[in-house]
Amino acid sequence: MTKPISLEEFDVTERLTFLAVHAHPDDEASSTGGLFPLLAEQGVRTVLVTCTNGECGDDPHGNKPEHDDHDGDAVAALRKIELDRAVEILKIDRLAMLGYRDSGMEGWDHNNDPRSFWQTPVTDAAAVLLEILREERPQVIMTYNDFGFYGHPDHIQAHRITMEAIKSLDYEPTVYFNAIPKAVFRAWRERMREEQEANGEAAEDEVDFGTADELIAAAIDVSATTPLKFDALVAHASQITEDSFWMKMGKERFTQTMNTEWFVRATNPNNLEGVVTDIFAGYR
Ligand SMILES: [Zn+2]
Repeated sequence: MTKPISLEEFDVTERLTFLAVHAHPDDEASSTGGLFPLLAEQGVRTVLVTCTNGECGDDPHGNKPEHDDHDGDAVAALRKIELDRAVEILKIDRLAMLGYRDSGMEGWDHNNDPRSFWQTPVTDAAAVLLEILREERPQVIMTYNDFGFYGHPDHIQAHRITMEAIKSLDYEPTVYFNAIPKAVFRAWRERMREEQEANGEAAEDEVDFGTADELIAAAIDVSATTPLKFDALVAHASQITEDSFWMKMGKERFTQTMNTEWFVRATNPNNLEGVVTDIFAGYR
C-alpha cells in the first residue's frame, strides 16, 4: 500500500516556472512575445517583472519626452493599461511592476533623475527582485546581456539587478539573455532594403547589430504563437506607429517571419550543450 503524500513531501518547486525581467512595458512583447504564450500552453507558470513604468515613451500624440506637452506620469498610466492588455494576450500568470522611473535613452537628462531606474543602486533593486524570485523559484530566468541588448540604460540595469539577485538564491537557475543572430538581422535588413528600393525610398544606413551566430544557445520555434506576439505588440498602441519595423510587415508576414526567438545561455546548471529548442531543456 502506498503511503499518502504529506504536505511536507509534496515538492512545490517541481512546478515549472519561467520568469522574465524586462525594462519597459512592451519589451515583454518584442523579445518574448512568442515564448510567453507557448510556455503557458505547455502548463508552465509564467511571470513578468517589468522594472520601469515607461515614462519616457511617446505620448498619445507621438510627442517625445523633450516636448513641452509630454507628461511622463500620464504616459506611464496609459502604458500600464496597454501592458495589462498585453499580459492578458500573452497568457502571463503574474505581472510584477518594480515601479522605477524610466531612465530614457543613453545621454538623456532623465538618466540623472534620482527616481530613475538607472540611478537606483543595483543592490536596492536586486533586493526587491530577489523577493519575487524567492516566491516564484523560477527554474528559467530571461533578461538582457550586459549591454542591455542595445545599450539602453534601463536594459543594462535590468541585467545588473538580475545577475545580482540570483547570487542570493539557494539554487542556481538557468539564465538566458535574449538575442538576434547577426545572420538573421542581416537577412531582415536586406529584405527591407529591397522593399525600400522597390518603393523608391532611400535605404536606411547599414548598422552592425545582433549576436554572433555561434553564441546562440536556444532557438525556440514560436510559430504557433506569433499571431499573439503581433497582437501584444499592437496592444502597446501608444508606442507603435504604422511605419514601425513590425507594423510595416503586417500580421501575416510577421507571423511567417518572426517564428523563432533566440537566446544566449548565461548560467548552465544542467550542463546543456549546443543549441536547445526547449527553454526548459534539462528540466523536463
Ligand atoms: Zn525597453
